[in-house]
Amino acid sequence: MKPVAPGPKPAAPQGVKPPGTAAPGAPAAPRPTQPGQAAQPGVKPVAPGPKPAAPQGVKPVAPGPKPAAPQGVKPAAKPAQTVLAPTKAETVAERGKRKLGQVLIDLGFIDEDQLWELLEEAKQQGKQIGQAVVDRGLINSEQLLQALSEQHGLKLANLSETKPTPEAMAIVPETMANIYKILPLAFKDRVLTIVVSDPANATAADDLRNLLSLNEVQVQLASPEAMQEAQAKAYNTTKEESVIDVIKELETSGQWQGGGREASIDLESALEMADSAPVRKLINMIFLMGIRDRASDIHFEPFEEEYRVRMKADGVLYELVPPPRQYATAISSRIKVMSNLDITERRLPQDGRIELNVGGNQVDMRVSVLPTLFGESIVIRILDRTAVKLELDKIGMAPEILEPFKEVIEKPNGIILVTGPTGSGKTTTLYSALSYLNRVEDKIITTEDPVEYEIEGLVQCPINHEIGLTFASALRAILRQDPDRILVGEIRDLETAQIAVQASLTGHTVFSTLHTNDAPSTITRMRDMGLEPFLITATVEAVLAQRLVRTICQNCREEFRPSAEMLIELNLTPEQVEGKPFFFGKGCDKCNNTGYKGRMGLHELIIVDDDIRDAISGSLSTDDLRAVCEKKGMISLRESGMRAIHRGKTTIDEVVRETVLESN
Ligand SMILES: [Zn+2]
Repeated sequence: MKPVAPGPKPAAPQGVKPPGTAAPGAPAAPRPTQPGQAAQPGVKPVAPGPKPAAPQGVKPVAPGPKPAAPQGVKPAAKPAQTVLAPTKAETVAERGKRKLGQVLIDLGFIDEDQLWELLEEAKQQGKQIGQAVVDRGLINSEQLLQALSEQHGLKLANLSETKPTPEAMAIVPETMANIYKILPLAFKDRVLTIVVSDPANATAADDLRNLLSLNEVQVQLASPEAMQEAQAKAYNTTKEESVIDVIKELETSGQWQGGGREASIDLESALEMADSAPVRKLINMIFLMGIRDRASDIHFEPFEEEYRVRMKADGVLYELVPPPRQYATAISSRIKVMSNLDITERRLPQDGRIELNVGGNQVDMRVSVLPTLFGESIVIRILDRTAVKLELDKIGMAPEILEPFKEVIEKPNGIILVTGPTGSGKTTTLYSALSYLNRVEDKIITTEDPVEYEIEGLVQCPINHEIGLTFASALRAILRQDPDRILVGEIRDLETAQIAVQASLTGHTVFSTLHTNDAPSTITRMRDMGLEPFLITATVEAVLAQRLVRTICQNCREEFRPSAEMLIELNLTPEQVEGKPFFFGKGCDKCNNTGYKGRMGLHELIIVDDDIRDAISGSLSTDDLRAVCEKKGMISLRESGMRAIHRGKTTIDEVVRETVLESN
């Protein structure tokens, strides 16, 4: 039972809400204040719990029955051997491991009474037990390291005497070492020895074994300081190998000079090439660059004369140096092997995924393969679940939007819509809203296509069109599961809209998205779908339109005076911007000379009140509806952009590109 205030579910109006009852800005039904506010819902990290100093999820280095990637065996259609990150199942076997506290007692560093005190202290101060015991001066950091090595069965590395070998550094490039937070120590007979400073990072061993096609990866432990020092020394003297170097290697390798185009390449040699060191290295490097630069997707595109690789970061596509055209099949085969797809199938589209475990974070890559005229076009969508902080306060909403938005999403029923084109950050906003509302006494169910973030405490149901599980059918089933709040990935049709309305009328809050350009047109769009205006006024509580614009690089930002032409683009006169500052980024190393770094949202929020309800019932046009909303204080996307420009956050170009001037 939920500890909800008196009576059953509050304000679940059967039938239609008469226009005019809900006072404008009426506060949501009072929420019970719960003692100790349930644990803040976090995005699910791979290792359970927050970044641990004494993590549980560490894999024993012991050989185990892991399928050692067989070397020398021709990988004829045997994708299974390269399946990445079989991590989840293994952690189960780790449950029996001693807790760090117990190890400290067994080593005689502390006694049981001290442990209880330390546990209490660690909990109160949000520290790891290991840190707490060092802070108290009961042990030094070396003794902590000793305890951790004992707990996780990891050998201690002696970095003052053992230096990374050139072979080890050659196989693990600096970027890879940095991203995985490891130091390569030795490499012999296809066995790599690496050092980590956080036992949680031992999970990198699996990825590395697969990425580098190794027989085994052994893990040792060292202090963060020792590791950093050794790493700085080691890589300082070697120039990092770049994508260009690898491509040169491919061009001159001579292994496969003759290859012209698809037709002349038989599968066998393509597979051989796919498994060759330079191809593997190139793909690993591209993937790691994508992860490092927080790219959202990577595109491999074969054309008649060239093979193009592009990467999208901050919403903009960048082209990388193109690999030799004749390697297209080898590259796509390698990606298909990594994503566990059928490599012999080259005429039908396929979808797969690659999971990597990078620096203790799970990175999920969705792979889509499409046969084209000149070979397979591959798009990889990178879902780095840790890249986004899903906290409503931290997604860059201006306070004048954030406060009313927070208030309206607390309502016990109604429909909240977030709109904007693909890639406008709708999903992040909705998840942040749900995370904000994620409390023990509320049940939240989502249905999505695909599930983009896993959030603890939410029941998440992926859509599957192939078997007929659509938003509408999922939503019907969800309503039988007694949720309080529901997220429907998208309202695409009248059927889904009707069920959403029904859900709202029976006392649920429904969150969803619509593909419309701005907030007022969302209302008219629902009407055009065939939804009766009285059902819209009875249910829709708020519409938030959103765009993402690139933010100016803070390292090279400069103020400037816009020309008359630029002002005309913004439909402004020089008098209107008199004394108001404008900025741009000159370009520097920190921003790849683009002048931009990161992105921010522009927002337009309609809180539906009596006047707006009247306007909706009156079947006003989008423009008239917009006029009413603006009179009620709605800040338009363009206005939100202007504010961001003057605050030095973004540029005229970005705002002009992402927001249209509303007709007056
Ligand atoms: Zn810059």
